Amino acid sequence: MPEFHAQVLDSLRQPMEGGEAVISRANRHVRYPSRFQLVAAANPCKCGGGPGAFACRKGPQCQANYFSRISGPFLDRIDLFVDVAAVTATDLSLPPPTEGTAEAAARVFKAREKQAKRFGEPGDNRRAVNADAPGAEIEALCALDGGARALVVKAAEQLSLSARAYHRVLKVARTIADLDGAASVARVHTAEALTYRYRPAMPASARASQGLTA
Ligand SMILES: [Zn+2]
Repeated sequence: MPEFHAQVLDSLRQPMEGGEAVISRANRHVRYPSRFQLVAAANPCKCGGGPGAFACRKGPQCQANYFSRISGPFLDRIDLFVDVAAVTATDLSLPPPTEGTAEAAARVFKAREKQAKRFGEPGDNRRAVNADAPGAEIEALCALDGGARALVVKAAEQLSLSARAYHRVLKVARTIADLDGAASVARVHTAEALTYRYRPAMPASARASQGLTA
């Protein structure tokens, strides 16, 4: 993703937020529906990262420089950042995971069904997923328990979360709870949601030691 021009990436901000693309010409505005899920990948830094020949020898600043090509407001709109470790030769010889794609898809389907019901109107799937819930509504839907609330408030202060990020964390936590089959959002769901926020130049091991993981 950092290989794209900043201007190109920033043009995605408005449709990401509003679900429509607005084209403005002289005296004319045209709105096109534009609801999509953005999935993007990036190397840890310009060097390529990982072990071996493409390992970074420049330190965290290299990663910071690489990601500085993407604007903060853009990064703030991404809900899930997941570090993917390089596949080793040992990994390749291991048996496949017990939960395959079909099983994972079934869990996702169940969670989406719950969300579709939550947002009401039969046949109306305009707000079928947690991501589309307005901020005020998600607070009530999350039904955060005491531990979860304390954690998210503390994290919002420590990580200086924007209002947008705060609500996005709640929505992700609600979805994790849905996948877990839980009626209310517990501390463990909130903690997991927080680990997915973007934090600059910080390897997964450092995130874990910050005490915000489950
Ligand atoms: Zn590097």
